Amino acid sequence: MAKPLLLVHGGAGNLPEASRPSHEAGCLHAAEAGGAVLEAGGTVVEAVCAAVVELENNPIYNAGVGCALTRSGRVSLDTAVMDGKSRNAAGLAALDAFPNPVRIAERMLDEPEVLLVGQPASEWAERHGFRRVPEDELTTESARLQWHKVVDEGADPNFAGGTVGCVARDADGNLAAATSTGGTMGKKPGRVGDSPLIGVGTFADDLCALSATGHGEAFMRAVFAARVADAVRYGEEPQEALRRMLERTRDFFGGYGGAILITTESDPQFFWTTVGMSHAWWSPDGTGSGI
Ligand code: ASP
Repeated sequence: MAKPLLLVHGGAGNLPEASRPSHEAGCLHAAEAGGAVLEAGGTVVEAVCAAVVELENNPIYNAGVGCALTRSGRVSLDTAVMDGKSRNAAGLAALDAFPNPVRIAERMLDEPEVLLVGQPASEWAERHGFRRVPEDELTTESARLQWHKVVDEGADPNFAGGTVGCVARDADGNLAAATSTGGTMGKKPGRVGDSPLIGVGTFADDLCALSATGHGEAFMRAVFAARVADAVRYGEEPQEALRRMLERTRDFFGGYGGAILITTESDPQFFWTTVGMSHAWWSPDGTGSGI
């Protein structure tokens, strides 16, 4: 018997001091929501999606409501889910404004394709019962302000993070991972980050589940999640593999970030090379959070 465990992150970055308590509390709330699914006998996929839904609905994170906007001020969402047992995986990238994009990835898990992008991805979602909403419904005042700072004033687009993710393990040791984001603020229309790419920002197999956050381009060049998972498979300690690959992503590929990881047996594993990463965990013994 494995010990059920669920971890969430609310993005790696440099959060203003004043926003930290709410980011941490939002992660804890999401971890509890995902944990409740596991406790009720739900699958790990259902649990990670339930946790990510909470974070997508919370306007302080860069996913779903409150997402980052493209250079032209539009919504363009990236998300992925992977089920470690079946190895089924689904990513959607440059998706239009849908509430809870992670639910679309969850729905796509049984499809033969692993990645759908752009307009056809949005059309697929609509054909499968998901409802596009006006972009205003996902665009907060604060996201609009940050967009102005980045696009008009040249601020660093990664200053606050806010991508969300979750990994979970059930009592049978089954694992799953999910990630959801609006990407980088002021990104080029059509730009896709690491989050929806299986083996980069999101990954789960029979040993390991990961969700990453940070400079997507560096994580893609580093082929981040797959390399961490392989290192763990070939014997590296999970915390060491996470630390080494995040430092390599920073030092060799030029990008900062963080990630959450669990294996079939491990304790919660968090690491970041940014100022912070809001995160929380749930287990039947209790919960915890940090930033
Ligand atoms: N990794 C995300 C991206 O590049 C952004 C983030 O995690 O803050 O799209």
